[in-house]
Amino acid sequence: MRAQPKASHFVNGRYVEDRAGGQIDCVYAATGEVVARVHEATDAVVEEALAAARAAGPEWAAMTGTERGRILRRAADMMRAENRALSEIETLDTGKPLQETLVADATSGADALEYFGGLAGSLTGETMQLPGGDWAYTIREPLGVCVGIGAWNYPTQIACWKGAPALACGNTMVFKPSETTPLSALRVAEILKEAGLPDGVYNVVQGRGGVGAKLITDDRVAKVSLTGSVPTGKKVYATAAEGMRHVTMELGGKSPLIVFGDADLDKAVSGAILGNFYSSGQVCSNGTRVFVEKGTRAAFVDRLVERLRGVVMGDPLDEAVNFGPMVSQEQMEIVLGYIEKGVAEGGTLAAGGRRSNRPGFFIEPTVFTDVTDDMTIAQEEIFGPVLSVLDFENEDEVMARANATPFGLAAGVFTSDLQRAHRVVRGFEAGTCYINHYNGAPVEMPFGGSKLSGVGRENSKLAINHYSELKAVYVGMGDVEAPF
Ligand code: NAD
Repeated sequence: MRAQPKASHFVNGRYVEDRAGGQIDCVYAATGEVVARVHEATDAVVEEALAAARAAGPEWAAMTGTERGRILRRAADMMRAENRALSEIETLDTGKPLQETLVADATSGADALEYFGGLAGSLTGETMQLPGGDWAYTIREPLGVCVGIGAWNYPTQIACWKGAPALACGNTMVFKPSETTPLSALRVAEILKEAGLPDGVYNVVQGRGGVGAKLITDDRVAKVSLTGSVPTGKKVYATAAEGMRHVTMELGGKSPLIVFGDADLDKAVSGAILGNFYSSGQVCSNGTRVFVEKGTRAAFVDRLVERLRGVVMGDPLDEAVNFGPMVSQEQMEIVLGYIEKGVAEGGTLAAGGRRSNRPGFFIEPTVFTDVTDDMTIAQEEIFGPVLSVLDFENEDEVMARANATPFGLAAGVFTSDLQRAHRVVRGFEAGTCYINHYNGAPVEMPFGGSKLSGVGRENSKLAINHYSELKAVYVGMGDVEAPF
């Protein structure tokens, strides 16, 4: 098996195996070949990971932020140096083209380690002057043991986007990757150790939802950060609430992308491609409801369909390939089911619509026109390469329709009217917005959703607030006046 890790879990600074746990096969989505096999964490492994994370906490939190940051930044450099090998693992794990993983996965993880490593030394509290010479100050403290739970679309990135701010703030982490993509987080943990991370600070355990559920009900856990679907998010949030645990929820979406008639058409088409077909459409923030102003719709669809001729499907390990398979057979079947529904409910296929005639779980990039707001494909998250074109006549109308969804992850607008662009983003009910671009997620910018799409933000300085809390201290400098 060409991607077999040294063992299933990485706990307390070493690889750990316990074959009593249920078997998880890691399948290369381009061929169906099993490239690795790991085992779910047993209760003993879960216990070992939580105990290690708890025990490592005080010493890690007592280090200066600068010392912690130095380790994270060293790990970032190591990840960059090893980018190709990490990208190949990511491609075997997810099926995403190497052309993408070389620039969007380990590199994005390294950015998070570098950014939060850089911030770690400057995390401070504040002082407040109060009447009578009294004053108050705040101490920024870590939360403790944090549990990270990942989705399968960006496994390296998610392992780092959660780990980097958590560790920068002095927390420790137990990370559970998605059972569909168990591989890359193990190497992230190993690199952190090689960069000098004390044992037990960052642990990786494998498993399906049941292992995640065990982790988040443990009394030692202070915080849960999940990237996943809305149904899982609701369960995890409710469970976390029982222990009053902090949460970050990065969930699904059905985001709008609005193209006004005055937009630069080529840029808008590029935005729609990035927002629907990158990672074969398996991106949470995708702008899958593309609202195009009526007079421009035909030209937009023509240009889009023409650009799809540039799709190169094939073995994702071949760097010339720019479009990979669905992550799994299951995901492929879900997406094909939505395409069938789109056709049955009256959508017109302008491109694609079928499983590709090759081994693996490939679906052709698919464009539906004649889509109306009430169709299933315009309402539910598909998480595949399926773009719906809807048309509109004016701004008020399209804003109301764009926001008429329980999700609120992302939204985008293409226009050359500066004032309209800013007015439109003010009106979007979404956490992450784009003007004349789509789907960039640099570490400097907060990322996350509103409404059912989530709680909290990842990346940027804001993430620090989600991985630390402030202790407030009142300092009396004079007499203490009491009523009796
Ligand atoms: P999923 O919800 O099926 O699983 C996510 C993770 O939760 C997995 O690791 C799974 O094992 C775990 N899990 C499942 N049940 C659990 C439980 N009861 N307790 C604890 N953990 C549990 O999602 P998925 O299919 O892996 O990923 C696709 C979804 O993720 C899509 O909805 C997508 O939009 C979303 N996503 C969101 C973001 C974001 O940043 N907002 C990013 C990527 C993916």
